Amino acid sequence: MKITEAKFAGSSTRVSSGPGRRLPEFAFIGRSNVGKSSLINMLTGNGRLAMTSSTPGKTKVINHFLINDNWYLVDLPGYGYAKLSQKARADLHQIIKGYILESQDLVCLFVLVDSRFDITKSDVEFLSWLGENGVPFSIIFTKCDKQSMTATATQVEKDKAILLEEWEELPPMFLSSSAKKTGREEILAYIDSLLSDN
Ligand code: GDP
Repeated sequence: MKITEAKFAGSSTRVSSGPGRRLPEFAFIGRSNVGKSSLINMLTGNGRLAMTSSTPGKTKVINHFLINDNWYLVDLPGYGYAKLSQKARADLHQIIKGYILESQDLVCLFVLVDSRFDITKSDVEFLSWLGENGVPFSIIFTKCDKQSMTATATQVEKDKAILLEEWEELPPMFLSSSAKKTGREEILAYIDSLLSDN
């Protein structure tokens, strides 16, 4: 897929206040600092669409981006912020879970995982929750340029083994590097294939 147009289509904290127009949605989520904003900017070819962690006052809302006037890329708030109060964390989970459970247009949720470390317990629990709720998801391993291909392959195999303790089947998985634009074609082709099935 060639992205010819990517534009901001609004922020919300719940599905009912999202963009009125209904289109297929592909959402991205991950722990803060996993490289989500960089990936969104890399995929859309717009270096400034999603605000990266270094942006002051980065807000914890759901951002919709209209792509090619045909589908929405949904940037969900990052989770796992160490500094949040319990109340703020609960509010954040409410926003995330509310969107995932209530969106009628979510085609696939891309869950981002850092390719350098073992998938975390909270990520594994989150994936189980997605499974229990019948939410279709894929995994994107980020920041692959930060280590050798062999190290990435070894880590991915380790993560697969962790997941296979809970899952009979593995979801689609992608390797990415925003720095090197790795994975762009594969992820966009996958979105394209799901759009054609839709
Ligand atoms: P977010 O909090 O998940 O949105 O993460 P960001 O996209 O803001 O990235 C967090 C940090 O990781 C920033 O310093 C990015 O420059 C860096 N980063 C993100 N993706 C990559 C990548 O693919 N390769 C490298 N080398 N650094 C990355």
